[in-house]
Amino acid sequence: MHSELIPDHNALWFLPLGGCGEIGMNLNLYGHDRRWLMVDCGITFEPGRQHEVILPDPTFIRQRRQSLSGMIITHAHEDHIGAVPYLWPQLDCPIYTTPFTAEILRRKLASAGLLSRAPIIEVRPGERHAIGPFSVEWLQLTHSIPEPNALVIRTPAGHIFHTADWKLDPSPIVGPSYDRIRLQQLANENIRAMVCDSTNALVPGHSVSESSLYAGLKNVVAACEGRVFVGCFGSNIARLHTLARIAQETGRYLCLLGRSLQNMVAAAKTQDVWPRDVTLVEPGHAGYLPAEELLAVATGSQGEPRTALWQLANGRHPALDIEAGDTVIFSARTIPGNEPAVARLQSALKGRSVHLITSDQSDLPIHASGHPCQDELRQMYQWVRPQIAIPVHGEAAHMARNAVLARDCYVPYALTGENGDLFQLEGTPRCLKKFAAVGRLHLTPEGRLQSAPQRSDFIPIAG
Ligand SMILES: [Zn+2]
Ligand SMILES: [Zn+2]
Repeated sequence: MHSELIPDHNALWFLPLGGCGEIGMNLNLYGHDRRWLMVDCGITFEPGRQHEVILPDPTFIRQRRQSLSGMIITHAHEDHIGAVPYLWPQLDCPIYTTPFTAEILRRKLASAGLLSRAPIIEVRPGERHAIGPFSVEWLQLTHSIPEPNALVIRTPAGHIFHTADWKLDPSPIVGPSYDRIRLQQLANENIRAMVCDSTNALVPGHSVSESSLYAGLKNVVAACEGRVFVGCFGSNIARLHTLARIAQETGRYLCLLGRSLQNMVAAAKTQDVWPRDVTLVEPGHAGYLPAEELLAVATGSQGEPRTALWQLANGRHPALDIEAGDTVIFSARTIPGNEPAVARLQSALKGRSVHLITSDQSDLPIHASGHPCQDELRQMYQWVRPQIAIPVHGEAAHMARNAVLARDCYVPYALTGENGDLFQLEGTPRCLKKFAAVGRLHLTPEGRLQSAPQRSDFIPIAG
């Protein structure tokens, strides 16, 4: 441990406490001029134990919280926002985020009794704010949730481009597309380091656009005779827009099954990212509709116990029974680690003579990832032209491949490390191994934080 070192005014440090070498529980720190800036504060789940929330151990920054200038939440996925209600009381700093994410955060803080205590500073995409010695610019990108933001973090010791989660989607349905001109301008802004999403670095080509799913999903739904249930991530508001449109066009009413979905849509309505002409039917009324008039979106595409799809498959849904001739469409990929739970869910559904349609069975795409494939990573390196690439948000193999792509694009340095390593970006860049103690905490059923065993595997939260 060398953690008695403090970043001075010449220093530009990056220190991940979570999310580097894994997909989940992102917690990043930037250090400069004796101050720290936190970017994201997320959770992860253990495979097969999805009810167990795992968080990064914040001890390093808690011990220095007098030097923590603020916390930025880039977007509202659980692996970026989920730990705020649990860790904020130990950190006690202002939280900066954009309006949709702020709405989700307020709901989380309210249920933890923290709403009146935690100061949220709402930022519009494109704005700049000074947070301690860091001047931060929010730059809207595209992903699989409203308002995904990259950050340009400027200090006198150098500038960082922190991508957070992104893809290059020319037609994201909700929100603007990415600003190609602005991203290209970064090449002239002397970006010292680009800290970048590696989730799909092993996947060749370019990600599928959210808007191109309409054709595949419409085909599938139009061919269904009974009720249609679609499993997808509730935070993907754009996917819900597509399904709402398809429901209207195929003479079906849209129904939302599952608390997290209903919560997300309620937030989307307050932030005006929900279509005004969509009528939702209450789950309690959906059972009375003729089978061919229902399209229900349901939580639980990962086989999580007690979610809507699980309840339907096990005959335990309070409002609806799933019957022979109904169809369940999985508009989501199975996250590594969840295969056994998804297989159990699917076999329970098959046991009820339900048609199953998964994304690998469909000719046209019915699911799109929210993360950049190899062509998009190359494109971003060519636009931004950083001096240093630091792949994060991936397992070792994803990050290593992202580093190779960066070098192929003539990025002079590509550094890979893991949680607790210190990336010193001033002078000759280097990575100091095991600079800070890191670990994982879990939440006991009584709501206390306890040290959790080391990671046996990982599970990312959202596509
Ligand atoms: Zn995300
Ligand atoms: Zn993420």
